[in-house]
Amino acid sequence: MSATREPCVPGLFSEDGGARLHGVRCRSCGTPYFPAAAHCRNPDCTASDLEPCDFGGQGTLWSYSVANFAPPPPHRYDEPFRPYVIGVVDLDAGLRVVGQMVDGVEDVAVGARVELVVDPIFHDGGKAYTSWKFKRI
Ligand SMILES: [Zn+2]
Repeated sequence: MSATREPCVPGLFSEDGGARLHGVRCRSCGTPYFPAAAHCRNPDCTASDLEPCDFGGQGTLWSYSVANFAPPPPHRYDEPFRPYVIGVVDLDAGLRVVGQMVDGVEDVAVGARVELVVDPIFHDGGKAYTSWKFKRI
């Protein structure tokens, strides 16, 4: 399929040169944030000093849930709806991120190694609307 790819939400992630989430990291205490935060929320940090930081690469599936029912609008998906897995991943970069899994429920397991990818959520008008997801490696 050669559909033009377009992010569901512009500015949160990119895929040119490898999937990356656009967040921030506190220069003072090192705490990472995605989506980007306006202030450092670490109660032990005395100097909220955030700089842009991209996150990607590999991580470990910490937990997951299975969405067996179609989400209500404005969420979109390709018909017919198929259950999908929502993973909670600890990226090696030190960030815990929620994201849909490319893999089906029969292929996921807590502790599995995964990588960040950008993948279509739904198709419309010849375009593939993408989001970040995780895929077992
Ligand atoms: Zn901080």
